[in-house]
Amino acid sequence: QSLTDDVEPGAATMPLPQNDERRWSDTSAYARKKILQSWVQLPNGNWELGKILSTSGEESVISLPEGKVMKVISETLVPANPDILDGVDDLMQLSYLNEPSVLYNLNYRYNQDMIYTKAGPVLVAVNPFKEVPLYGNRYIEAYRKKSNESPHVYAIADTAIREMIRDEVNQSIIISGESGAGKTETAKIAMQYLAALGGGSGIEYEILKTNPILEAFGNAKTLRNDNSSRFGKLIEIHFSESGKISGAQVQTFLLEKSRVVQCAEGERSYHIFYQLCAGASPALREKLNLTSAHEYKYLGQSNCYSINGVDDAERFHSVKEALDIVHVSKEDQESVFAMLAAVLWLGNVSFTVIDNENHVEPVADESLSTVAKLIGCNINELKLSLSKRNMRVGKDTIVQKLTLPQAIDARDALAKSVYSCLFDWLVEQINESLAVGKRRTGRSISILDIYGFESFDKNSFEQFCINYANERLQQHFNRHLFKLEQEEYIQDGIDWTRVDFEDNQDCLSLFEKKPLGLLSLLDEESTFPNGTDLTLANKLKQHLHSNSCFRGDREKLFTVVHYAGEVTYDTTGFLEKNRDLLHLDSIQLLSSCSCHLPRAFASSMLIQSEKPVVGPLYKAGGADSQRLSVATKFKGQLFQLMQRLGNTTPHFIRCIKPNNVQSPGLYEQGLVLQQLRCCGVLEVVRISRSGFPTRVSHQKFARRYGFLLVENIADKDPLSVSVAILHQFNILPEMYQVGYTKLFFRTGQIGVLEDTRNRT
Ligand code: ATP
Ligand code: MG
Repeated sequence: QSLTDDVEPGAATMPLPQNDERRWSDTSAYARKKILQSWVQLPNGNWELGKILSTSGEESVISLPEGKVMKVISETLVPANPDILDGVDDLMQLSYLNEPSVLYNLNYRYNQDMIYTKAGPVLVAVNPFKEVPLYGNRYIEAYRKKSNESPHVYAIADTAIREMIRDEVNQSIIISGESGAGKTETAKIAMQYLAALGGGSGIEYEILKTNPILEAFGNAKTLRNDNSSRFGKLIEIHFSESGKISGAQVQTFLLEKSRVVQCAEGERSYHIFYQLCAGASPALREKLNLTSAHEYKYLGQSNCYSINGVDDAERFHSVKEALDIVHVSKEDQESVFAMLAAVLWLGNVSFTVIDNENHVEPVADESLSTVAKLIGCNINELKLSLSKRNMRVGKDTIVQKLTLPQAIDARDALAKSVYSCLFDWLVEQINESLAVGKRRTGRSISILDIYGFESFDKNSFEQFCINYANERLQQHFNRHLFKLEQEEYIQDGIDWTRVDFEDNQDCLSLFEKKPLGLLSLLDEESTFPNGTDLTLANKLKQHLHSNSCFRGDREKLFTVVHYAGEVTYDTTGFLEKNRDLLHLDSIQLLSSCSCHLPRAFASSMLIQSEKPVVGPLYKAGGADSQRLSVATKFKGQLFQLMQRLGNTTPHFIRCIKPNNVQSPGLYEQGLVLQQLRCCGVLEVVRISRSGFPTRVSHQKFARRYGFLLVENIADKDPLSVSVAILHQFNILPEMYQVGYTKLFFRTGQIGVLEDTRNRT
């Protein structure tokens, strides 16, 4: 359904007490009310504000800025809001809620650095791509005192703290948006506010310092964002009963580890590699046999070593400081850097053919010996693990020599595992350091910063997982804002004109159904030794062709109809990435090392493979280590995440990227509109404006405000008490509805009562 249709605000149970303008709902209003301004869509798709000069029959004559005059079909005109509503801070206040009006309003504010706008209960944040004067202590103070009420991340964080204390319910701040839209920055801004209000013990400082560490190890320059997070993150901040921060816990999701060994032209690997190469002291350089980033093959292949305006050496020092603050010892830090150097040197290991069957072994050069030295293993064992593979066949073990592609795979797999284990290990260290108040008596606020929906020219396994996660989150959003909302009205006997919304259950089922869903079929094919990316694609097409969210394409391609649009995936590499094999030989190698980190990595890999958290034990080709497939593990993590979020009161922030070139001041209508549609912002406003977003049970309401009553209420039931309170305080009847179990209020009404209560 097009949202360009103007919404009739009077569609709720009773007319809103606003001026008459709000109820014009169709173009015939032009005739009645002599509307002069209207939106005209230009051939390039952009909307422009025009003045209606005349209307005759089905056509209107419109004058546009710069003296242009255009004849258009009257029906295609979309009503514009009166100037007085320019730049309102909540889209709910717009008389005409149509796409061009919303676009215009966001743009109007954006031009004045007002990057935040409410869309009913959701905060919309448009990335300014420059510093805006909206942050820091003065602003924090203003939001804390409520002397500044314009939309802001601070205001969301403030509400979360207040609701956590008042309702004794855990809270979550769920941030979504495309790559480069500003999620990570927004998460940091929210953390800053929580730290300022809940700080005092010093732990808040540690919590803030997790950001530079996780960004160094988990972010990279991509074509879309110079500081793109290549993992998802949930940080749960714990509060004591008195509302002070007592600790925190970080959970990460699906680090893109392929980036360690391979990245696209113009992109970079993880920041920390370049930081280490640029910032290590001479002593450390010598110890790790470090050279410049240009010398490492893993870093050299994408032809990009630096980021505009970023000093990698300086960042390296900040990361070391941050590691100090979260109590990673100097010794451990050095081991971490040694692992990074080992990964880099591993990429330089080359192979030479040793027989006439094209079997290879690593060249015994500086790179090989440096790797052995850095991880603390015997150079011959390293050599063996990169040239042979032990396979278990039944009770026997046979030794297979590797060909060049197999050896390169083994080398890269080792590099990827070491890096991702290192990342997990760091997260563990951070969590140990932040788990100060082990006795968790209080409450928590979780902040979720997770990759947004992705649709590129070529979409691979990573996009497949990311978009699956987004379907889940979108359902959470839908369920929360739409379904629960409607159900609650209906259950409580309140007349409510249903508002249709898109549910994405069909698409989720396509992924999750057993045994014939995308994930199950992928796992099944991954266990077949002879499975290939092509047999996978064919299998999907064979079983899913009749599903309305699925479309088979030529060869290895298939298309999924996601809530945010269609995405065509290429199964090339799916099986390998899903299996994520690490040969037993490599694990054995790591466990034999004299350094403690590789040994810790080896045991964590073994634990992972022995104790599946969810789903069946995954067995790959009968040969290598048994472990969960990546997709299954990710699904388990997501379920756990949704369960955790399900027990919280969510606050949604939708980040919008106004252009694709990371430039300030550039606002591309088409791009913004597509994102607004994807995340359901327009639907939300529509629902919230026509509804009663605040609701309180009669008991709670009576308990909270009953004492303000002048009359005696001792023998009255909560419903009667509630009604008495409403009457005593002259709350206008159109501002609330009395349900069976709850009171429903229009936005802002509870504030009046709270003020009175706080003054009493
Ligand atoms: P990804 O999904 O790739 O991780 P993201 O949504 O996390 O992307 P960010 O890294 O938060 O995007 O933002 C990208 C860039 O936009 C930042 O590096 C910063 O330059 C700019 N930016 C985002 N938000 C703000 C803000 N509030 N003020 C100033 N600049 C911002
Ligand atoms: Mg990010």
